[in-house]
Amino acid sequence: MSSLQPVRGTHDLMPEDTRRHRFVEDTAFATARRYGYGEIATPIFEFTEVFARTLGETSDVVTKEMYTFADRSGDSLTLRPEGTAGVARAFISNGLAQQLPVKVFYRGPMFRHERPQKGRLRQFHQVGVELLGVENPLADVEVIALAWRMLSALGLGDKVSLELNTLGDAESRLAYRAALVAYLDPFRDRLSEDSRNRLDRNPLRVLDSKDEGDRRIVAGAPEMAASLTPAAREFFGVVTGGLEALGIPYTVNPRLVRGLDYYCHTAFEFTTTALGAQGTVLAGGRYDELIATMGGQRTPGIGWAAGVERLSMLVDAVPAPERPVAVIPMGDQLAAMAVAERLRGVGLAVDVGFSGNMKKRMARANKVDARIAVILGEDEAARGAVTVRDLDSGTQDEVALADIERHFQER
Ligand code: ATP
Ligand code: MG
Repeated sequence: MSSLQPVRGTHDLMPEDTRRHRFVEDTAFATARRYGYGEIATPIFEFTEVFARTLGETSDVVTKEMYTFADRSGDSLTLRPEGTAGVARAFISNGLAQQLPVKVFYRGPMFRHERPQKGRLRQFHQVGVELLGVENPLADVEVIALAWRMLSALGLGDKVSLELNTLGDAESRLAYRAALVAYLDPFRDRLSEDSRNRLDRNPLRVLDSKDEGDRRIVAGAPEMAASLTPAAREFFGVVTGGLEALGIPYTVNPRLVRGLDYYCHTAFEFTTTALGAQGTVLAGGRYDELIATMGGQRTPGIGWAAGVERLSMLVDAVPAPERPVAVIPMGDQLAAMAVAERLRGVGLAVDVGFSGNMKKRMARANKVDARIAVILGEDEAARGAVTVRDLDSGTQDEVALADIERHFQER
């Protein structure tokens, strides 16, 4: 029955999956904290215009991917497709311009109506950071360093590579736009319909096209570098110099543009060859005009977002959960539950089954990968004791019931 299937492009995350996700998210937040970032949680839906006005009218996200609906009061709302616009809105709503710089980390689900495939979902999860209020290009270096340190902490240092480009300042982009249109116009008829549209409304976007034919045409396009103003060139030089000084490897990819409209200067992506077509695991850039576009006081910003599903697929070494203690009653189930509660009270993870003979219960202890079994046998119970068996070595001791917490604390 189709109504019992999850909606296409959404997934139920089982405990093994959430364990991977949490590891990615917690590693990301622990890393961000080292750089002074606090966690922000904005609503998962906003007024549609928060996204429509900022992400760009010609962006894929706005033209075809948003989950937009009218709520019962007739407001047009959109499930957030990304995190930056909501953070920028929150920055303005909460008057944070008084306390610059603002450094925030976020995590959570994002929603895009895309064609589902491996690594491309309709509800997916991101972790991300935003640094607001710093004009200095060394801010770009810091957020990239944070990304690199997080990816290294996840054990992905050898699996990802950093690609970097500059989109320059407004003047550079204007000059580049002209050069790009001059190059692309003769190919107009051979471009995809989307790209023909983009050519008129936002030609830089053609560089980001996923269409094979477009990509072949784009391969011969002029590069941004030739159109940069001296100031934009200097800005980028500080970024690349900073990365070199910090020992962060990168390559310049002159065709890298970001899919959303609000970016300027630095654009970057960490990519992998290990995930097929969905190779971008983390992407970001500078967005100095975003807050002003939304109606706030002009505040420069830089940030990135990473796909938790894509990172989870790459990570090998997810720390195993704590191995529990299995409490095994031979008779009185409630007595076993009382022992389990005492052990949980001193911080242990404890598993107690609700039924079954000794054999079944030992099998369950194995299944939950218990480290130790506490067996409440009738004979020991008569002596006020329990058997504590190390399930790895098979050795066992009799422990007085009254001392059970102390026994585990000393173990
Ligand atoms: P793509 O080019 O793959 O469509 P994008 O430019 O749309 O990516 P961003 O908006 O920059 O992606 O999002 C940052 C990261 O979030 C991506 O690098 C990716 O890891 C992840 N991501 C984006 N869209 C999806 C999705 N539909 N499913 C899973 N992860 C996604
Ligand atoms: Mg996309």
